[in-house]
Amino acid sequence: MKISLPSSDAPVRPGKLLCIGRNYAKHAAEMDSDVPTTPMVFLKPSTALVRSGGAVTIPRASSNVHHELELVVAIGRRGKDIPAADALDYVAGYALGLDMTARDIQSAAKERRHPWSVAKGFDTFAPLGPFVPARSVENPQALTFQLAVNGTVRQQADTRHMIFSVADLIAYCSTVFTLEAGDLLYTGTPEGVAQVQAGDVLEATGDGLEPLRVTVGAAR
Ligand code: MG
Repeated sequence: MKISLPSSDAPVRPGKLLCIGRNYAKHAAEMDSDVPTTPMVFLKPSTALVRSGGAVTIPRASSNVHHELELVVAIGRRGKDIPAADALDYVAGYALGLDMTARDIQSAAKERRHPWSVAKGFDTFAPLGPFVPARSVENPQALTFQLAVNGTVRQQADTRHMIFSVADLIAYCSTVFTLEAGDLLYTGTPEGVAQVQAGDVLEATGDGLEPLRVTVGAAR
């Protein structure tokens, strides 16, 4: 799927979805995980994207899919080895997103020390709301947003509690990957992750951010 970036007229197809694990201490704690000393990065395929208004599909391979509410950063221009002090100049916009996770598959992968690509990469496992322009967000480390499931708040995020800031994440990721316009950065989830069921309605909202709403369905 192509996305519309605030910084460009033509929609772009995201080349890569960079995702950060354990970027809020209370979420690391609820997963019985240590807090990392360098950002923990994994990738999702762009085929996992689904727009607001769409539906997440619970795959037949999993019986325990979780929501993870996250701030998503769209990269607006190409860069490599970007200094943290310049990193926010590379941001085109901010959106709300969900890092859907097959927790049962992820737990099995952790036990076997296997990668998380399957647990994180199913089709529709990366819901993405519309972007607001980067210039409309004065400080990405002062954003609050929340996720309601069927009208009940399940997760509340405050980006002041990120372990690695958006700028630090961009700087770090750009030491490994050349960042390109349209690349997306899912910046990690706060505590409160929980299982979704077919029929659930997931609604993310935040001050100064566009809402994201998806429904959940089961694979047939
Ligand atoms: Mg996550």
